[in-house]
Amino acid sequence: MPEPLIFERSSPGRTAASLPKSEVPSKPVDSIVPSRFLRKDLPLPEVSELDVVRHFTRLSQKNVCIDTTFYPLGSCTMKYNPKVNEDAARLPGFTLIHPYQHESTVQGALQLMYELQQYLAEIAGMDAVTLQPAAGAHGELTGMLMVRAYHTERGDVDRRRVLIPDSAHGTNPATATMVGYKVQSIPSDARGNLDLDALRAAVGPDVAALMITIPSTFGLFDEHILEVIASVHEVGGLVYGDGANMNAMLGQARFGDLGVDVMHFNLHKTFTTPHGGGGPPAGPVAVKAHLAPYLPVPVVARRQLPDGSVEYYLDMDRPRSIGKIKAFYGNFGMMVRAYTYIRSLGAEGLEKVGEAAVLNANYLMQRLKAAYDLYVDRRCKHEFVLSGRRQRRSTGVRTLDIAKRLIDYGFHPPTIYFPIVVEEAIMIEPTETESLETLDQFADAMLAIAREAEENPDLVKQAPHTTEIGRLDEVAAVRRPNLRWKPE
Ligand SMILES: *Cc1c(COP(=O)(O)O)cnc(C)c1O
Repeated sequence: MPEPLIFERSSPGRTAASLPKSEVPSKPVDSIVPSRFLRKDLPLPEVSELDVVRHFTRLSQKNVCIDTTFYPLGSCTMKYNPKVNEDAARLPGFTLIHPYQHESTVQGALQLMYELQQYLAEIAGMDAVTLQPAAGAHGELTGMLMVRAYHTERGDVDRRRVLIPDSAHGTNPATATMVGYKVQSIPSDARGNLDLDALRAAVGPDVAALMITIPSTFGLFDEHILEVIASVHEVGGLVYGDGANMNAMLGQARFGDLGVDVMHFNLHKTFTTPHGGGGPPAGPVAVKAHLAPYLPVPVVARRQLPDGSVEYYLDMDRPRSIGKIKAFYGNFGMMVRAYTYIRSLGAEGLEKVGEAAVLNANYLMQRLKAAYDLYVDRRCKHEFVLSGRRQRRSTGVRTLDIAKRLIDYGFHPPTIYFPIVVEEAIMIEPTETESLETLDQFADAMLAIAREAEENPDLVKQAPHTTEIGRLDEVAAVRRPNLRWKPE
């Protein structure tokens, strides 16, 4: 029996509060609101406080989240969100400030933003950072607008193409297209690197940029990254580094040192701020000095006053800027969380994150590679890509079925059918925050499902068996979504 919903618990006259009788004479409601705006009835539930608390607590428990479940979502880094970040973000000095407040009254907030810019620049080996973009894709847009501004200012206006590996996240081609470029896809080679010959054939004087994800969305570090970047620079193009998932890079290798000109971070992936169910993420962008003049306004800056003291301020006086890309200054609460994370780990801690992310992913890959096909059998970075093609061919069990069956074992499924160039792809990113025990439980479940696919394929094809709702009609769910519950 499903739990009764809050409307079904309603009992006439029940309320969550009992207030003393008002001493102020009440006015008829239609003397305040014109009657044409009034409804005849409004069937709101009449419930006690306890009913309300239980209703919302129960709803919150229906949500699968990182605090309850291992969430090995490839290309989307779902790692633990440390609670100390939340404590910091809830400090009244941060939560009670207003975006229109005078700079002199928000020096602490500006200092935090300034220092976060510096830390991100240092971590990635870049020269300047904007914190404003509201997500990874928005960071890409910001970065590519700067690429366009750079070429345009140099009178280099015939650069029309942007090269993008076939393994890229879908946002990369979408961004390049929105900025007005023509996208050319570059294939990968058998080791999962960008195909160097194909790249060399594609570069030319009309190439504005290469957008490349590091490590790639196969979870691999391109073995020729320096040659790749040099071949784009040779023709005057810029290199955009997609750094959405850079756990494995922390303290190991820096985008700037590799030659990347512009890049974005996803604070809600690498830097432990919550993804938040569509809530506010943040996708700061870092650039080398030659792109710094184009950063969106305002840039958080620091100056020394005549009396020797230091002041932080919002620099709007940037004539070559691409302009404003976000209301106010970006998602500030996410900046506080990322800052807290970086400060609580320090340089040594961040380096260990990089090592543990790689160790965890390689451990899982080794445990699973006999039971599932591995896309490329070489050391991975933060994630790896399996293929369910063997299962599909021998038993008809698809990757989708394997993902659904994992729910029965208590795990959020990994990313599936992406990257699209891998047949029946299963893309697993364990992150550095999971213990050996959790990794083993997950590996055991994946191995058990591989056995089930052989012995009892229908069990897998009909999964999940433990949830309130089984398989959705996925087409109807998209075409005719039912997003609202209404009382009978
Ligand atoms: C997640 C991701 C993005 C997009 O980030 P959003 O915050 O979802 O817009 C871009 N590139 C890669 C490689 C990603 O994993």
